[in-house]
Amino acid sequence: AAAERETMGKMSSPGFQRKIRDGAKKFEFQAEVNRLMDILIHSLYSHKDIFLRELISNASDALDKIRFLSLTDKSVLGEGSTAVMDIRIWADKASRQLFIRDRGIGMTQEDLVKNLGTIAKSGTSAFLEQMQKGGDMNLIGQFGVGFYSVYLVADWVEVVSKAPGGKQYIWASGADGQFTVSEDEGENEDLGRGTLIKIHLKEGEEEYADEARLKALVTKYSEFINFPIYLQATTE
Ligand code: ADP
Ligand code: MG
Repeated sequence: AAAERETMGKMSSPGFQRKIRDGAKKFEFQAEVNRLMDILIHSLYSHKDIFLRELISNASDALDKIRFLSLTDKSVLGEGSTAVMDIRIWADKASRQLFIRDRGIGMTQEDLVKNLGTIAKSGTSAFLEQMQKGGDMNLIGQFGVGFYSVYLVADWVEVVSKAPGGKQYIWASGADGQFTVSEDEGENEDLGRGTLIKIHLKEGEEEYADEARLKALVTKYSEFINFPIYLQATTE
């Protein structure tokens, strides 16, 4: 357990680089995605904790996908700790940082660009319409845009991801209309495979880096998740 703690502490240490990284490619969000993010980042919705349900659900989907792939090609699982199918969550309250990591399918550079910003899903405009009619924010996941709910609590998000056999990339955005994608040249620990979501919480949202609060939320949202979820608050 001590060794595990050490690894997790180390993984959370790089923090955030809010400047554009050298060699990063800049992208504009698709117009409706941009509108959605604008609404989310300014939202006063009172049940913002749903973002954690959405991120856990994405992690679980990613694990389902790698498990399915591994049925026909065992090598995609890798060896040692990389082969472990779990979800890990840790936080640092003092720096308002929250981290969620899965060992799922991961995303290539192209996946990051398409899935997290440039391709509009039909649900995006449908959800915007619902919101205009006073619809419930809680349903965001059903419209296929659950990821963006992270901006209910975050002012900066980085998605570090590595697909099987691919390189590790960093997606980053402060929900200001654009995002960047760059190769991770040793800035974060090698994930082996999967995705690490790095969240910088807005001022006033530090409760989501609180161990007791996270524990209650993980219990609430892990009920129908078929993979183990480990929680650790990194305060040391
Ligand atoms: P949905 O889950 O309904 O497809 P989301 O907005 O939650 O919509 O996520 C958008 C897409 O981003 C997903 O379909 C998936 O392709 C990708 N994605 C998000 N999170 C992860 C993750 N942890 N691992 C791999 N892919 C992810
Ligand atoms: Mg989702």
